[in-house]
Formats: sequence, C-alpha cells, structure tokens
Amino acid sequence: MKLLIVEDEHLIATSLKKGLEQERYTVDIAFDGLEGYDLAASGEYDIILLDLMLPGLDGVSICQKLRSENIHTPILMLTAKSQLDDKVKGFDVGADDYLTKPFAFEELLARIRALSRRPQQTTNKVLSLADLTIDTTNYQVKRGTKDIRLSSKEYSLLECLVRHAGQILNKDQLIQYVWSYESDILPNTVEVYIRNLRQKIDQPFKKKLIQTIRGFGYKISE
Ligand code: CA
Repeated sequence: MKLLIVEDEHLIATSLKKGLEQERYTVDIAFDGLEGYDLAASGEYDIILLDLMLPGLDGVSICQKLRSENIHTPILMLTAKSQLDDKVKGFDVGADDYLTKPFAFEELLARIRALSRRPQQTTNKVLSLADLTIDTTNYQVKRGTKDIRLSSKEYSLLECLVRHAGQILNKDQLIQYVWSYESDILPNTVEVYIRNLRQKIDQPFKKKLIQTIRGFGYKISE
C-alpha cells in the first residue's frame, strides 16, 4: 500500500510518515499543495492524506481538481475542526473521509484500513437527472429522446452541475471546474454560459432543471 501525505507542517508530516512506515506502508510526502497535486495526479497512490490549509494549492482545490480529472484515489482530509465547519462541511468536495486534528494515530490507522477496504469508486459513465441524460463516453446529451448539441464549455458546465446535482455551486467553483487553467474568466462569463445552457437544456422543455440561487450560485435538480 502506497500512501501520499500532503501536509506543510514538517513535524506532523514526518512523524506520520515514520509511524505509517512502521505499519509497513510505503509513504511519500509533499510539503506544498502544488507538489501534492502533481504527485496525487500521478495516480500511483492507494490513499491520499490531505491537509486542508496548504501553500500553493489548498486541500479542497486539490480534491476538486483530482475528482474533475476522474482520479478517484481515496482521500482522507486532515483538518482543524474550525476549518471543517467553515470550508468543508455540507459541501461535497470529493473527499472520502475526514479526520480533525489533533487525532490519535490509532484512529488514523483505522480510517486508512477502512478506506483501503472500500472498493474504488468508479465514475458513472452515464449521468442522469429527470429525463436528462449525459453519456460521458461520447459527450452525448439528451432530454428524453431529443439530442441536445452543446459546445465543449457548455457540456463541462452541465456535467459539473449534474455531478453535484442538488448542491449549490458558486461561480468560482464552476469557473474552477470548467475553465481551470485558463485565465481572464470573469464571473459574468458563467452567467452567459448558464443562459446559453438554459436555452438548450430547459427552454424547449416543460420541466426546468437549472436554478439560480440568488446571491449564492446555481444548482441543478428535479
Ligand atoms: Ca497546513
């Protein structure tokens, strides 16, 4: 079993590594978010222990980026309790489990064992919501039997909403998912794309799926 620890506090990271190696795990450490993301994205690890507050790229962003790139390595998020409440709770960022600091090493081992028993999550190839279906293997979108043609960005936006169906996503989250590395994306770009998407996905149909939650963002639900 190969573990990756992404943790900027050297003392914590190195003592975790030492303890885990005594339990016969193979352990690598990344001390900042960017290196952590690069290593995690290699897909070489069985479990990732991910700190929340990190220089470079924070734990939530790393998690979201990995999941949006279909990397489903189990992630155990390590976080201070206050951070858990503020940043993580109630929003599914794709982590599999959380452990609040400080924690007992035995507790960590138990969580790692539980995660390693869990079958690797496989991504659904066809996503659906009401009569909307998205075949992610060929990017085909339908409502009922009617084919809907979307641009690649519209498609990504829709896929992001449907993967998080029922959850409110703010513009920053949508920008990060759909445009990730491209710069110069203004928040009203999202509005424009949502409007286009609505014209194709919702307007011709009786049941509207995309909702604007004023002041917060957007969600898709039945
Ligand atoms: Ca930290």
